[in-house]
Order: sequence, then C-alpha cells, then structure tokens
Amino acid sequence: MRREENNGVLYYRFHNLAACGEIVHGVFTRLGGVSRPPYHGLNVGKSVGDDQKAVDANYDLICRTLGIHRGDIATAYQVHSANVAVVGPEDRGQVALQTDALVTNSPGVFLMLRFADCVPIAFYDPIQRAIGLAHAGWKGTLAKAAQKTVEAMMEAYGSRPADLIACIGPSIGLCCYQIGGNVVKLVNEVFPHQPQLLHQQGDGSRHFDLWEANRLQLAALGVHQIEVSGLCTACHNDEFFSHRADNGRTGRFAVVMGLNLGRIEQR
Ligand SMILES: [Zn+2]
Repeated sequence: MRREENNGVLYYRFHNLAACGEIVHGVFTRLGGVSRPPYHGLNVGKSVGDDQKAVDANYDLICRTLGIHRGDIATAYQVHSANVAVVGPEDRGQVALQTDALVTNSPGVFLMLRFADCVPIAFYDPIQRAIGLAHAGWKGTLAKAAQKTVEAMMEAYGSRPADLIACIGPSIGLCCYQIGGNVVKLVNEVFPHQPQLLHQQGDGSRHFDLWEANRLQLAALGVHQIEVSGLCTACHNDEFFSHRADNGRTGRFAVVMGLNLGRIEQR
C-alpha cells in the first residue's frame, strides 16, 4: 500500500486503486485524530464508548483529507453478517442497518465502513464503473461476505469477476489471529479442502489466515486481480485500532471509497 500523510492524518491507499484516477479512497489509521485513550486518536466508531464530539471531529478530518463532504457518505450499522446493500444518491448521509457490505455505481456517493482487526475488502469494476466495500471478520469470512459483494455487483451492475480489482486491507494477520476450537470446526466446515488456512502453533493452538480465506473465496469466483496489503493490525496497533491487541477497548478506523468520474487525479 501507499502510505500518505496530510496535516498529521496518516492513511494508506491501495496501489491498484490509486492507479485508477476516478477512485477516491483511503484506509485511515488511528493517527491524526482527536479522540482520547483508549480510542486515540482517529476513531470513527460511534458505539465503542468514545466522546461523540471527538468522533464527529474525526469524521470531519477524514472528509477534509479526502476532499469530500460528510453528507455524501453512505455507511452501515455493521453486524458481522454477509448482507450487502446496493446504495445510490438517496443513501448519502444514511446508515444501512444490519449490513456489512455496500456497493454503488453512483459517482459522488462515498462508501464507508469501520474496522479494528476485521478485513476490509474493496472492489472496483473499471468496465461497469461500480465499486464495493465489505467488512469481514471470521463470521463474515465464513458467511462469504466477499463473495456476496461480488455477486451483488454482478447482479446490480453486470460486473464480471475477471474485470474486478479487489483489495484486501489491513486486518489481523495469521501471525496474531488465534481462534478457539469452535471457530476451527466452522473453518473446516466452510473450507473443507483448505487445511493451509489453519496453522497449528507450538502450543497446540490454531491461527486462522483471514487474508487467504478471502483471497481463495474471490479466486474461486474468477477474481484474479487481488491486492493483499499484508498489514497486520495487531502487530501494528500503534497505527491501527486492533480489537485483539487492545484487549477489546479501542476505536475503529475508517475505510472510505467513492467514484469521482470528474476527477482525474486525487491530489
Ligand atoms: Zn500480527
């Protein structure tokens, strides 16, 4: 990913999306915001216990960094589901309930979701000019949230998987993602022929490779342009909020993405 900084706000951009002039996007970090510990600093989670004024100020900082209006953001109340909402101009400023993925083909509608270890997956179809953004922790990954986002783009916009540019963002890596026996069982049920997704550690515990589980899910659909950031949020909880590394009391970082067909270059 490309590391960018604007007035102290640190964010990343995917190489493959940054190369598309019509995509405005940012994977934000915890650096550059005004929230106080344990939500320091650029927290956009409204239901984690942070001061709402600080969260609002952080939203404004993010919008200023990307040069967008807050009222143009369409977001979701995320519940670790695989529900996808198709959104348009009428959804600007709205929150889709019980939803973990958003798709649109409307320029000027900015999709935004919040993360702290779960996997952000961004999609762009440069042929049909449509985008998607998904949130997938272990529940969303096993419920096939990434697959369902691609299927929603196919159905709503006629997208072909082979045309899609997919990007798997900063989230908890295999290095840090120990899971319990109940989740191990579920992973084996959903991915029966993929033992490489679970790594046994020296102490007998198992780690789950969320990045590879999502990459495989997309490859099986025929998506072959897949960028994996390789950034682990738990290893890098100085830069990212990490539910695991911060022991559950932490903020959420934002991923924002929109089509801006009138804009040749972002900056
Ligand atoms: Zn790690």
